[in-house]
Amino acid sequence: MIAYLERVSIPEPNHNEEDDDVLILRNGLDDLQLQGTIEFCSSTVSVAGRDFGGMHFAKPLAVVKPAGAEDIAKVIKLASRSPNLTVSARGNGHSINGQAMAHNGLIIDMKSIDNAVNVSYTTSGGYADVGGGALWADVLKRCVSLGLAPRSWTDYLDLTVGGTLSNAGVSGQAFRYGPQSENVTELEVVTGNGEIVTCSKYQNSQLFFSVLGGLGQFGIITRARVLLQPCPQMVRWIRVVYGDFSEFTRDAEFLVTREEGESFDYVEGFVFVNSDDPVNGWPSIQLDPNHPFDPVHIPSSAGPVLYCLEVVLHYRGNDHFSSVDEVVDGLLGQLRYCNKMRFQVDLSYVDFLSRVKVAEKQAKANGIWDAPHPWLNLFVSKRDIADFDRLVFNNILKHGIGGPILVYPLLRSKWDSRTSVVLPEGGDSFYLVALLRFSPPYPKGPPVEDLIAQNREILECCTRNGLDFKLYLPHYNSKQEWKQHFGNQWSRFKERKACFDPMAILAPGQKIFPRNH
Ligand code: FAD
Repeated sequence: MIAYLERVSIPEPNHNEEDDDVLILRNGLDDLQLQGTIEFCSSTVSVAGRDFGGMHFAKPLAVVKPAGAEDIAKVIKLASRSPNLTVSARGNGHSINGQAMAHNGLIIDMKSIDNAVNVSYTTSGGYADVGGGALWADVLKRCVSLGLAPRSWTDYLDLTVGGTLSNAGVSGQAFRYGPQSENVTELEVVTGNGEIVTCSKYQNSQLFFSVLGGLGQFGIITRARVLLQPCPQMVRWIRVVYGDFSEFTRDAEFLVTREEGESFDYVEGFVFVNSDDPVNGWPSIQLDPNHPFDPVHIPSSAGPVLYCLEVVLHYRGNDHFSSVDEVVDGLLGQLRYCNKMRFQVDLSYVDFLSRVKVAEKQAKANGIWDAPHPWLNLFVSKRDIADFDRLVFNNILKHGIGGPILVYPLLRSKWDSRTSVVLPEGGDSFYLVALLRFSPPYPKGPPVEDLIAQNREILECCTRNGLDFKLYLPHYNSKQEWKQHFGNQWSRFKERKACFDPMAILAPGQKIFPRNH
């Protein structure tokens, strides 16, 4: 190990330093006697240098496939003894902007640890102890077999538990239960100091809150205790359409502020183009092929975009349709959507949660799953969402983005301010806005630079007009921008870093802190 440090800090002339680093690192890692494996082979390393965004590439020196937390701790300690080595956990690599990459560093492949899902339960619920590299899809499969399910989800389930907890993890259940980061009661974390620590709200609480929404900066989550509820069996999945944004937001906010039992179980919404465009327009709304979108019912006052409120009601397999109809009609009867603009299907809870997997198959067949994805995710305060609609949805994005535009409200009270997640500054609620671009690669689709420029235009427009917003799944290149992002939470975030990863070994792909000696 000492040899490693000396060789790296005093490079020999006329040598390929990178090859030297790999050779010496190979010896250093061999000395660790990991239970897992280490891969230097170019195809594995090359995969770990890419992500779902498809716009960044950062080649690591090696990919470590650890057996568990002990292996990860050894690798972090090894890095701490070198002057410049960094370590990044890679979940499923579904980041957009290189957040899970480590240029010339080590990638920890979290999918290789023991990701078994161990469930403890009573009739009213329970919890699952889950590896940090487990996919949410696998957590669902295991829990459903026992009649249970996590309470809070993401729309897409091939994401890892550690990857979403490091951001927040939001979907249409978050208005009731908070994001996924509010639905775990205990974590096992390997800190940037190489210590394996169990933490919760009551034990090592500073680490617990730091890591949730912590962008991988403070530790690597190797296990999470996920809260469960009895698994719903069936869902009625409904979409209703609005021409007027203020009526859409009024109804969405009405639904998310009602008590459990007096509202739907899932509330999301999106914006779509008021045209017959197959990707961005009316056809994107229909749920049942036998019930197409009929534009005759669009109000004449509607503008270039329309709005869709998407809701779900859970029910039991043996409930009569008539009783489901009664509850649904009672709730929808209080909303102001356009007459005859209601679409619905009934399906199993698991099929509903797996809905994006179906879209993934189609997108893979069309070549748009593996194309670049310049996505933009924002939290916009409720105060400013009408301005955002006017300036962005109805202007910059009036022709759509070649994929879904999500917009739905979330309640600040469901987000613990002690976590590292950053929310807009004011108000009791805010909107998630997600621009999920799925364009074919250039030249079939627009050049990716144009889409990135459009994202920049949106952010500049929000700033120029004084809108209260924050990036979700943030991405910045300079410390100044990160400071601005964190606002008055910056000093807390920095103190947390100094405490749990003082040498800034972890998650270099976030580009927040440079590696310290
Ligand atoms: P990675 O991309 O591998 O890692 C993300 C960051 O977390 C990196 O900095 C990495 O170093 C760190 N990290 C990874 N694992 C760990 C760990 N165990 N401990 C500590 N740090 C770790 N998000 C939502 O909230 N809601 C959605 O509905 C949603 N839908 C999505 C749909 C698709 C198709 C895609 C591509 C993304 C979606 N996302 C959604 C975003 C997603 O939650 C984040 O990109 C998430 O980080 C991806 O998880 P991952 O396991 O691939 O993480």
